[in-house]
Amino acid sequence: MTLNAVSPWQCSSPAGEANYAAARRRYPAQAIVDLAALRDNMRHLVDVVGGPNSGTAVMGVVKADAYGHGLLPAALAALAGGATWLGTAQSHEALLLRRLGIGPDRCHILTWVYNGTEVPFDELIEADIDISVGSLAGIDALAEAARRVGRPARVHVKVDSGFGRNGFTPAGFDAALARLVPLAKEGVLHIVGQWSHLAVADSPDVPEFVASTDRQIETFKEFTRRMEQAGIAPEIRHLANTAATLDRPQIHFELTRPGIGLYGYEPDPAMGTPRDWHLTPAMTLQAQLGTVKDVEAGHGISYGRTYLTPNDTSTAIVPLGYADGIHRSASGFDMQGAKHVEKHGGPVRVMTTEGPRLYHVSGRVCMDQFILDLHGSAAALGVHEGDTVELFGPGRGEDYAEPTADDWARAADTISYEIFTCLRNRIPRLYLHAADVLAPQDVARLDPSTLL
Ligand SMILES: *Cc1c(COP(=O)(O)O)cnc(C)c1O
Repeated sequence: MTLNAVSPWQCSSPAGEANYAAARRRYPAQAIVDLAALRDNMRHLVDVVGGPNSGTAVMGVVKADAYGHGLLPAALAALAGGATWLGTAQSHEALLLRRLGIGPDRCHILTWVYNGTEVPFDELIEADIDISVGSLAGIDALAEAARRVGRPARVHVKVDSGFGRNGFTPAGFDAALARLVPLAKEGVLHIVGQWSHLAVADSPDVPEFVASTDRQIETFKEFTRRMEQAGIAPEIRHLANTAATLDRPQIHFELTRPGIGLYGYEPDPAMGTPRDWHLTPAMTLQAQLGTVKDVEAGHGISYGRTYLTPNDTSTAIVPLGYADGIHRSASGFDMQGAKHVEKHGGPVRVMTTEGPRLYHVSGRVCMDQFILDLHGSAAALGVHEGDTVELFGPGRGEDYAEPTADDWARAADTISYEIFTCLRNRIPRLYLHAADVLAPQDVARLDPSTLL
């Protein structure tokens, strides 16, 4: 009998059961995404800004394949939850959303990463996609494309209020206005928005960072005044990411842009846990164990012998490695060279005959697998090859002891965002609750083999 560290999935139909079985045969790990959690997270974010009629709209940020959750399913769930905008960094993802059937009648789409020389501006304009401009080269190239296509381009003027990434600086803004104003008057560019990004909105515990966000807000407002004075007042302003959507209501303006909150996480554990913010992590990463065997005390585990078994024990292979996006920095060890140094690796929930136990990566993460020291006899613990173990999930209860992507982020010295965006697409993505969350015509847009 195999044990399952994850509660059984409630598949919606025999076809869902068959998809689940097929995915497990194809690959010994699965990322299961709950579309109801995505929808409910978005509903909550819409409530936080005051509801659908508050004058503040919400964009679901679905860049980077929806933070690894799957672009189209996540986008559709966000719309089901009340998002009226979608945002992608790379322009090809914005175009893909339109091509997959999310038309301009359903939502606006904003895209912001490109260089002014090779971006498919013509297609973006034709697909009714809003485009960020933050450089003079970008303005020129976009204006040329708009003339070629014969339609005004919908523009969001990106201003650098202090992030130091994209956008016009205060010193460079007169030159930008000098180009934008005539193009707007001529109708080549339609100035829709003015926007910027916050650097440290997720650190309410650090007074210097709170002050620096305050300064970014003042700078942002000054940019708005300059646009107004130049006669191209933005119709909408947007500045708030998830952190500011959750805890800076004064800067919701006409649109907010949460990303990580849609996927159910707070931006920084310094802000608390997902539950503190009424968010539910949508993705569960699980795997089926490979070899389980007994080893003696003092056995070196994995490359570099950074972990030596302290006692006679059993080990189990988790068939996921850095080629799947499991961070090598989430390795766990008790030795570095000859020195004893203890560092916990990423956590894994394993079901045993004594109930669920949390183990940690023992030794280095390899390319396709890592190893767990079970700290006991597998036979006594009832742990077998083929058992399903859980790397992270929604983070249920104290007793349930379910790890989250935040725990993996801590083990790898990174942030939850990087934990899911690094997960390679060779790990099947499977979706729960499609039929509950999406209209039938949207369910039909999804790959049927991915629906549970
Ligand atoms: C990624 C991103 C967001 C979303 O940030 P979260 O912290 O995930 O809410 C918003 N705006 C821009 C410009 C981004 O790049």
